[in-house]
Amino acid sequence: MTTRRILALQDVVKRVPVEFNQTNKKVSQYYGSNVFGLDAMREFLSEEAFNSIQNSMNQGTIVERKMADQVAACMKAWAQSKGVTHFTHWFQPLSGATAEKHDGFFEPIEGGRAIERFSGNALVQQEPDASSFPNGGIRNTFEARGYTAWDPTSPAFIWGNTLCIPTIFISYTGESLDFKTPLLKSLATLDKAATDVCQYFDKNVTKVIATLGWEQEYFLVDSALYNIRYDLQQTGRTLFGHAPAKGQQLEDHYWGSIPERVSAYMRDFEYEAHLLGIPVRTRHNEVAPAQFECAPVFEETNLAVDHNLLLMDVMEKVAIRHNFRVLLHEKPYAGVNGSGKHNNWSLATSTGKNLLSPGKTPKTNLQFLTFFVNTVKAVYEHADLLRASIASANNDHRLGANEAPPAIMSVFLGEQLSKVLDELEKTVQGGKMSPELKTALKMNIGRIPDILLDNTDRNRTSPFAFTGNKFEFRAVGSSANCGGPMTVLNAIVAEQLIEFKKDVDGLMTKNVEKDEAIFQILKKYITESKRIRFEGNGYGEEWKAEAKKRGLSNIPTTPGALEAMITKKSLHLFESLGILNHREQEARYEISIETYTKKIQIESRIMDDMVNNQIIPAALNYQKTLVESAQGMKDILPADEFKKVAKTQLELIKEISERVTLIKTEAALMTEERRKANNLDSPKKQANAYCENVKPYFESLRYNVDKLEAIVDDATWPLPKYREMLYLR
Ligand code: ADP
Ligand code: MG
Repeated sequence: MTTRRILALQDVVKRVPVEFNQTNKKVSQYYGSNVFGLDAMREFLSEEAFNSIQNSMNQGTIVERKMADQVAACMKAWAQSKGVTHFTHWFQPLSGATAEKHDGFFEPIEGGRAIERFSGNALVQQEPDASSFPNGGIRNTFEARGYTAWDPTSPAFIWGNTLCIPTIFISYTGESLDFKTPLLKSLATLDKAATDVCQYFDKNVTKVIATLGWEQEYFLVDSALYNIRYDLQQTGRTLFGHAPAKGQQLEDHYWGSIPERVSAYMRDFEYEAHLLGIPVRTRHNEVAPAQFECAPVFEETNLAVDHNLLLMDVMEKVAIRHNFRVLLHEKPYAGVNGSGKHNNWSLATSTGKNLLSPGKTPKTNLQFLTFFVNTVKAVYEHADLLRASIASANNDHRLGANEAPPAIMSVFLGEQLSKVLDELEKTVQGGKMSPELKTALKMNIGRIPDILLDNTDRNRTSPFAFTGNKFEFRAVGSSANCGGPMTVLNAIVAEQLIEFKKDVDGLMTKNVEKDEAIFQILKKYITESKRIRFEGNGYGEEWKAEAKKRGLSNIPTTPGALEAMITKKSLHLFESLGILNHREQEARYEISIETYTKKIQIESRIMDDMVNNQIIPAALNYQKTLVESAQGMKDILPADEFKKVAKTQLELIKEISERVTLIKTEAALMTEERRKANNLDSPKKQANAYCENVKPYFESLRYNVDKLEAIVDDATWPLPKYREMLYLR
């Protein structure tokens, strides 16, 4: 009998690069043409409506209802001119993916006819009847409806034949049920706090935006192989699989040439991305075989987050056209690197300046230093919350596995900046500073050389690294919504800047001159936050020991890490800044912890199914062949001869029996642990039980299955093997 795997492999060898509607046009000729952006707005809106939208985009003012009607009508006209028939509110529920509910523009009217209609009401608000989205107990049955509300700061776009309107998602009682609402609030809070601090240096600054440039890593696998791996389909990762003889040890994949089929896929999804105004620009191979990365030009954070989510969707849909499946999971394969999503983050002023770019003049140097030191201090103060913001069952496989930053939060500054901070700490003493000293200090900062920008390789092992003109939060997982970690980062930096302003103003009321007050406070922060700075190898065992000495936390698994979400300190942070009240934050914690449990539970059940339905039958089948062959030999050979000749067969038969027994026993024990965990009375206890009592069986089960894979006849093994999935032509 031919196994499904062999049939799938026959498909795979026949693959050729898929042709697609490749246009000869330059990107600039079609970029953003599926976005209701400035050009489309100018063309379709009246001047009054255009200005109203612009105001609301720039100042966050509310779009009046009358204007909303007009905007909706124009959006509809624009979308219809492009063949669009449906619209949807596009939002980001806490389940992680994006959600949409498509409605047709048409409305039946009297006489059995229909018209196309899209009102201001439909643009501004929709009720997705979303009682089954995760809400952490906020919405009980009688207030089960949440509603979505238009976010005019992120433009509407066309995907397929649907007009998509980015929205926030909140409950009727006003609690946020999504990633976008707190993100927008954190951005507004950070804007206010940073603009206030900018006034010390430049009165012309009226607004500060946070910028985000993400780098998306992903794997590709042929869809024929994907379709017969239940684990990949259902969990996004392979739960079994013997390591290939050639993995990533030769390091020949990284930045190597991109296979034709893959390159056709990349061009295709980049084309779609450009139509949607997503500025993807970089593509290359990653470290593991079949692993790749793409990165855009950075944008304002809210837009960048939307674009990342949209791109993940685009990548998945386009992959299918090319007979690929894209794997966004943090660890699709054991034994080779997993995938992350570096979040490059900075602050930009309304005057066009990057606040984290070391300046050319003494004044801008001090401004740079202010934002730089405050960010480091913020990370120091809320390291555990940042750790929690990237915690997930998926990411646990990757963090600290010598391929991704450890679970210990630290900040990498680079040699020059470390020196600057050390000097500042030594030089600035209490009391009055001489003007010469102040100038010298500022000049010192200015000497931060440009080579810093080329120095990024040295900090690969850091979860949070300064890379010359931005911080790079590297611990974020590849499948995550960046909105979560970005909300935390914005919030903690905002809180810190507010604190800073208070401290500096405090000194100034005591007649300390401004620059001097700033230096004094920065010095204090540098001393206080010193423990979080680490320039060495984050993968080393020594760092774990050193971090422990310094009192930094090292929480390897998600259930433990999530606790930081609901400490007094974290609840106070979000509540005092008006980003999330404690009920909303507690709900988020509950959703995260339940999601963790469900993921491990599903993986465990799928393991059960696969060992019982696929692995054990395949092994026993092969064993049967061995038994028959041994039996035949026994029939024709003298007994002493048989013993000698059939030795290998007999050993194989025995090994298969032993491993099958082990697998059976362990699977049963795992099921029993699952049953016990399910009966516990709190989500936290359940998550801990899944983490500590169920998950350990994954490794021992896998070990024996992978050993069987290595000895069972290749032709009868049911699951696509690593060596087949990881190599793309
Ligand atoms: P790599 O980290 O792979 O060496 P780069 O450092 O050149 O690559 O850039 C990575 C990402 O950082 C890109 O998405 C880029 O747009 C983004 N980036 C560059 N400057 C900023 C900034 N000021 N704010 C946010 N992101 C930025
Ligand atoms: Mg990078």
